[in-house]
Amino acid sequence: MRYQRSSILFKEAQKVIAGGVNSPVRAFKSVGGTPIFVEKAKGALLYDKDGNTFLDYISSWGPMILGHAYDPVLKAIKNRAEKGTSFGIPTALETEIASLALEMVGNKDKIRFVNSGTEACMSAIRLARGFTNREKIIKFRGCYHGHSDAFLIQAGSGAVTFGSPSSPGVTKGTAEDTLLADYNNLEEVIKIFDEYPEEIAAVIVEPVAGNMGCITPKNGFLEGLRNICDKFDSLLIFDEVMTGFRLAKGGAQEILGVTADIVTYGKVLGGGLPVGAFAAKNEIMKELAPEGEVYQAGTLSGNPIAMAAGLATIQALDSDQEIYLRLEKKTENLELGFTEVLNKKGLPHQINRIGSMFSLHFTEEPVIDFRTAELGNNKLFKTYFHGMLREGIYLPPSAFESYFLNDALTFSNINKTIEAFRKVISGF
Ligand SMILES: *Cc1c(COP(=O)(O)O)cnc(C)c1O
Repeated sequence: MRYQRSSILFKEAQKVIAGGVNSPVRAFKSVGGTPIFVEKAKGALLYDKDGNTFLDYISSWGPMILGHAYDPVLKAIKNRAEKGTSFGIPTALETEIASLALEMVGNKDKIRFVNSGTEACMSAIRLARGFTNREKIIKFRGCYHGHSDAFLIQAGSGAVTFGSPSSPGVTKGTAEDTLLADYNNLEEVIKIFDEYPEEIAAVIVEPVAGNMGCITPKNGFLEGLRNICDKFDSLLIFDEVMTGFRLAKGGAQEILGVTADIVTYGKVLGGGLPVGAFAAKNEIMKELAPEGEVYQAGTLSGNPIAMAAGLATIQALDSDQEIYLRLEKKTENLELGFTEVLNKKGLPHQINRIGSMFSLHFTEEPVIDFRTAELGNNKLFKTYFHGMLREGIYLPPSAFESYFLNDALTFSNINKTIEAFRKVISGF
């Protein structure tokens, strides 16, 4: 497999785009080598500029759950575009997607659409702060909630529980309002609440973490967060930008049986166009402008083309009673195949999977939080990543990302992937 054109295109991009990419993970920094430049995609297949084809296991980091260029979604986009692409004036389409999204989610009264997951999470904590009249939030190490200031926070030094900026440009003042705990560690959360019983507006969590590989919540973790938040009058925010409409119609709330106060969405809900959203009960949502005083706005929010793509996507998910089962079955086949290959080879590994989210870490210790995810052998991961790429399998270019299967992947595609994996691992 040759990447000549991609390599040239990357050099050209680097001359005019910061780092050559519009989102860091695309630069292949953690695996090395040249990023693949895509020409087009259809179904489960990516076609690059060098004429290579790949089975796609990232699905645009989740949104393309139905596969690429899915006909009903394309048709919806085309039809809608003919009528004008943006108005800054309400459309009935927004009400239509809001109604269906809320019906699928099942336990929220109102939703507000924005343009990205970042915006959704940023707005959700503003709303939580406005509603509770408190300033601090708790987040978990390794959980990603987009790139707004309040979330680019790492553990502070010493005994202090408040964080410090994890990126230059984030102020110390902002960092002091974000308190950090380890994922799956309820005791730490309790300690923080004991220290700041009346200052915490919200706990924000990925109910299934997908940004340090895929990590599922331990039994009782989310239930525990629910109880603590109730006890201290804080809000529980589920960041379902990844899991929403992917793990089930009602997302992680549905399959894990825990209800959050505010839930954020993105990715699948936009069907491949830029969409984010957050939803809550009336009591909370009425605080939002124009009804309430918590300000939030967007020139392109509820954009008709984005709404059309999102609506066509969730309609397809809503009307196919088998889709989540099928996705799960495919992902389970991948898990079983990989596990068999790895066990035969005697290679220490952890495979985490829930529904159609999956990750593989080369480590002996169960991966349950950021610390254990970091123990993975990155050198091995790089070799594995590039080996699979040569076999025509496009995986997330970092061990800290989750795989997202799409429904266009067939069982025979999965078997082909397992055979490619067998070949790659046999060379280890
Ligand atoms: C992708 C993601 C975000 C950010 O969404 P963007 O659309 O990239 O801004 C937030 N939270 C989670 C859990 C995500 O996976």
